[in-house]
Formats: sequence, C-alpha cells, structure tokens
Amino acid sequence: KGIFLQGNPFENPPVEIIRNGREAVINYFRSLEDGKEPLNEVKVLLVGEGSAGKTSLVKRVFGEEVDGNEPQTQGINIRKWTVKNGDWEIKANFWDFGGQEIMHATHQFFLSKRSLYILVLDGRKDEKPEYWLKLIENFGGDSPVLVVINKIDENPAFELNRKFLREKYRSIRGFYRLSCKSGEGTKDFLNILVEELKAVKHLEIKWPKSWFNVKSRVEKICPTCPSIEVSDSCEHCNFIEYNEYKTICDEEGIKNESEQNTLVDFLHDLGIILHFRDIPLLNTYVLEPQWVTNAVYKIVNSKEIAESRGVLIPDVMLPVILKQKTETDYYYPPYQYGFFVSLMKKFELSYDLDNSTVLLPASL
Ligand code: GDP
Ligand code: MG
Repeated sequence: KGIFLQGNPFENPPVEIIRNGREAVINYFRSLEDGKEPLNEVKVLLVGEGSAGKTSLVKRVFGEEVDGNEPQTQGINIRKWTVKNGDWEIKANFWDFGGQEIMHATHQFFLSKRSLYILVLDGRKDEKPEYWLKLIENFGGDSPVLVVINKIDENPAFELNRKFLREKYRSIRGFYRLSCKSGEGTKDFLNILVEELKAVKHLEIKWPKSWFNVKSRVEKICPTCPSIEVSDSCEHCNFIEYNEYKTICDEEGIKNESEQNTLVDFLHDLGIILHFRDIPLLNTYVLEPQWVTNAVYKIVNSKEIAESRGVLIPDVMLPVILKQKTETDYYYPPYQYGFFVSLMKKFELSYDLDNSTVLLPASL
C-alpha cells in the first residue's frame, strides 16, 4: 500500500527539514496548516572585477541611464526589484559589491546558496573567469549562474571558451553578450533574467505563516527597541544575539530548535541574517552587512597592524582599531570582537600564531 496525502499530493518540505527526520517533517506540515505561501524571494549576486560593469548592469535592470561615469561602488549596495510571475510577485534583491581589491575577501561572507549569480566580465586581458566561477561553485551550492560578457562596444572580439566552461561549471545557465553603455543585448538579457528568476527552485517552497512573521520582524523592527523601525543610526539594528532570535521564533510559534535553525539558514541565503552556524561559540546574527565588512576593513587596513607587520593581538589592538571615532561610525561592542576574529579565521583572512596573537597576511 502506498501513502496517500490528501489535496496536493506533492508538497515538498525543504531538504533541511527532511534531513532532520520524521518529527521535523511532521512539525513542518503542522505549521503549514495555519496558512502557507511560496517564498517568492531570491537574492541575486553580481560578481566580477571592479569596473567590469556590475553597477551599470543593475542600472539597466532598473531602467536607469548608464552615463559612462558610474562612481566606484563602496561596500555593498542592495537594491530591491520585483517582477510579476502569474498571480505572484517575485522579489529579487540585487547585491552589488564594490570592486576594491581589499573588499573581495569580505564579499565571500555573503556568497550564499539558493541564490542567483550574475558574473560580469568585460574582456580585459588579465580577466580570470574561472577564479569567479570557482568561488561561486564553492559558496553558491547549485545556484544558477548567468555569465555576462559586457562592453561588446569596446571589445567586440572578446569571447570565452563557452563549451569548456559549461562542461566544467555545471551551474552556468548561459552566456550573454551585451553593452550596458550602448544598450545592445540588454533587453534580451533582461528577458532571460526574468525567466531564470522564475525558474529558481526554492521560490516555490511553501513557507508557513510563522516563518514569514519572523522574517518580517527581523527585517523591520529594531530587535532591541521594538517600538522603532530599523534605521542606520540605531546601533542596535546591526545584529541580534541568538537568544533574541530564539525569542522572536518562540513568540511566533516556532519552538522547535531544528526548525529555528532551518529558518535561519533560509534567512542567511536570502541575505536577511548573516549567520555562520559552523563558527563555534558565535551567537551573532548579523542584520546589517556593512557592519561586518566595515569592521574587517578597519582591521585589515589599520595602521596598528601595518606597524606590527601583520600581527594582531586582538585583546590589545581591537579596542583601538574598532573604537567609534565619529558619530557615524558603526559601534562594535567589545563582546563582539571575538566574532570578527573567528570570522576572519574561517575565511582564511587570518591565522592563529598562538593563543593571543593572529597573523593577517593581507596586512603584511
Ligand atoms: P563595476 O565596478 O563592476 O560596478 O563597474 P561599473 O558599472 O561601475 O562600470 C565601470 C565603468 O565602465 C563605468 O565608467 C561604466 O560607465 C563603464 N561601462 C559599463 N558598461 C560599459 C559598456 O558596456 N561599455 C563601455 N564602453 N563602458 C561601460
Ligand atoms: Mg560597482
């Protein structure tokens, strides 16, 4: 005898839930009884060398002028786009990374699974498409990749070994020649982008209402001062602690720890909470990406570490390096210093020399 499910016979729970066993699956279906909707949201990441045309491409997507004078992107610029998909709307959040060399390393923090990647190339001599494709492969799981060959007005002869790359990197969905400047090929690319967005697999995963509730609470409400909306100037809006996340989940009826973890993984891949469950002892759930990149940037570029030839003594030096110097600087509470040290270690930006000292090769 087979198992019959009433109604929709094929409602897929997320794999993470299946992995957590029978009880987790039952809980998931139970929570769906209170109402459910497909997630319909996806993070779109633009990667590639500085000045390849990432920001220009985003502007084309938003129907803005590309005037040939785009200022360098600083840090990370996130722009929200929506596109109709039948009765639903898909929310696509474009993550446009700044091109400074030093920032490449910190971009890795944000390369997520269950996303859509756009690799922008411009045919310069020293371009390394495989460097980027490997990076996406390492961090992106089986997220689809669109490879854009930009600036065909300037480098019309440039071409890639498409067959070779496609066989080696299975996530590549296609190659698109265009010019953000003249507009040639951009319309076709936009049509393809929309189709690819609709085809992203996790969009259809049904989210229980409680999951949406948690999502919108961590997105909108300052976790520490619940009466105010998230704002850049509120020092509490940059991160929450594990316990605060757990409380929000509990209040929304998600009491099971494995379900809380499944949800935070989704929120991580959507770019809403940055959280690495494999960093031990770290209970920081980051809400503001720049809060993290800015700290790492400050550390790696500090004159203190330059003077000590790449050696960092966190306990002594971080209070100086991460000190809030102006009112607009991010605030880093001392108990968070360890988070940045562990994060840099995880992404191989630093290596332990001994118990109290760390080496930062990038600062040598
Ligand atoms: P990003 O660093 O990857 O974000 O690159 P930008 O979008 O800022 O573009 C870098 C420079 O290249 C800017 O001056 C753009 O105007 C220019 N640019 C972008 N797309 C094209 C293109 O298709 N053709 C030409 N000739 N220039 C372009
Ligand atoms: Mg840019």
